Amino acid sequence: MNKNVYQFLDVQRIDPPKHPVDERRIEFKEIYEPMSDRQLQGQADRCLDCGNPYCEWQCPVHNYIPQWLQLANEGRVLEAAELMHKTNSLPEVCGRVCPQDRLCEGACTLNDGFGAVTIGSIEKQMVDEAFAQGWRPDLSDVEARPEKVAIIGAGPAGLACADVLARNGIKPLVYDRYPEIGGLLTYGIPPFKLDKSVMTLRREIFTEMGIEFKLGVEVGKDVTFDELVNGHDAVFLALGTYKALDGRLEGLDTPGVYPALPFLIGNTQRLLQQQMADYPLIDVKDETVVVLGGGDTAMDCVRTSIRHGAKSVVCAYRRDEENMPGSRREVQNAREEGVEFEFNLQPLEVVKGDDGRVSGVRMVKTELGPPDADGRRRPQPVEGSEFVMPATAVIIAFGYQPNPPQWLAEHEVKLSDWGTVLAVGDSEFAMQTSNPKIFAGGDMVRGADLVVTAIAEGRTAADGILDWLDR
Ligand code: FAD
Ligand code: SF4
Repeated sequence: MNKNVYQFLDVQRIDPPKHPVDERRIEFKEIYEPMSDRQLQGQADRCLDCGNPYCEWQCPVHNYIPQWLQLANEGRVLEAAELMHKTNSLPEVCGRVCPQDRLCEGACTLNDGFGAVTIGSIEKQMVDEAFAQGWRPDLSDVEARPEKVAIIGAGPAGLACADVLARNGIKPLVYDRYPEIGGLLTYGIPPFKLDKSVMTLRREIFTEMGIEFKLGVEVGKDVTFDELVNGHDAVFLALGTYKALDGRLEGLDTPGVYPALPFLIGNTQRLLQQQMADYPLIDVKDETVVVLGGGDTAMDCVRTSIRHGAKSVVCAYRRDEENMPGSRREVQNAREEGVEFEFNLQPLEVVKGDDGRVSGVRMVKTELGPPDADGRRRPQPVEGSEFVMPATAVIIAFGYQPNPPQWLAEHEVKLSDWGTVLAVGDSEFAMQTSNPKIFAGGDMVRGADLVVTAIAEGRTAADGILDWLDR
């Protein structure tokens, strides 16, 4: 039967239902419910099956989107999961956390007034369903290879590299300093966006595939980088980027001012009932919270603060809403949950009260000037517009810069002036660094970016490693 390509005129885009806001404001559960099978199939059927699918090109891992939408429409769950895993190592994660409005769905032909196909939600739901039905990657035809590869970092870049290596017969050893895999998927992104059981199941699946995890092991402290380099045929670096930017704000050491990541990690650990001494719980119940920043991290902090029972939560950002880097979907979710947004405000200093704790943030209003080197319009202060925004807790979410460990230089791994590892460019082997045995990818190469770009680089690096071992 021929496909009705005008289906999108009869069937509107529908997003999966969300939990009621009153419940969302107090619980750390994922906010989206699954769609009914009928709804999911109808949504998948809206795809026009464009000859040259822009969604596929805009997706950093170049998923076969129209093909698996067709399988979803026909209810062929297991085949869809199989196809999704040909291009993506963590499709159930990407379906949950990718900023689809900027990637696949932003490029969907129907995004022009009709409402893009709900690509991300369908991806998530099909893989969840396949796992629930017992589907697992089948590696029975894979021939084992003798080479040894070590991976440092069990975030999305390291996991994606491990996945592709395992599917090509190499059983890698993945080291991570934290007690669970996932990197920022586990210890940064809160459970209302990505439930922690998703990564636990992934660890079990990857372990069944022959990937070995050495968790709670910090390279450079518990084991030396030398040992890893000397004991393996290749090493993949996927350490992420963790040095928080401070915006050169005065008064950051004032009690009541918190960096974003320790705030989020402390919260996650309480929920996981894990104890990592460096990250105690920071509870902002009854506080007047101001979060400074406008990216995904800021969105996660405001929504976590709401769930702690903060008195009020304001997100203050120096550009306008149009220029916010965070996902539009998450801004909307935050608004629904009671977060207030204040745009065009540049923080100048943290103000201290008589009790020695934070009492506010001195701000100046901004207007957008001409574009900078990146093409983004730079905010400029408006003279005479300073004021103090009251706060009893201030969370700093300005972003991250690279913090490459000292031991890289000892192994002649070259860095950019900014501290990112140089692994894209000169070499004929994808993601190879200036030390031929060492490859790198993810945030430590790109600077802080996205889950799906880290996955894309981890997969590309695995291809580079395999090519290099076969040279
Ligand atoms: P990471 O995820 O940072 O993983 C690096 C791993 O290396 C960590 O597990 C770390 O413990 C380990 N490691 C580091 N040093 C050592 C060592 N010496 N020894 C052993 N292990 C080590 N992106 C999205 O696409 N969508 C989102 O919604 C989103 N939300 C975000 C929310 C927050 C709060 C943050 C901070 C980021 C968010 N991002 C989001 C960005 C995304 O999480 C990152 O771009 C991505 O995780 C980078 O992957 P990675 O593998 O390069 O690094
Ligand atoms: Fe879209 Fe991300 Fe899935 Fe690609 S991986 S199809 S960008 S949700």
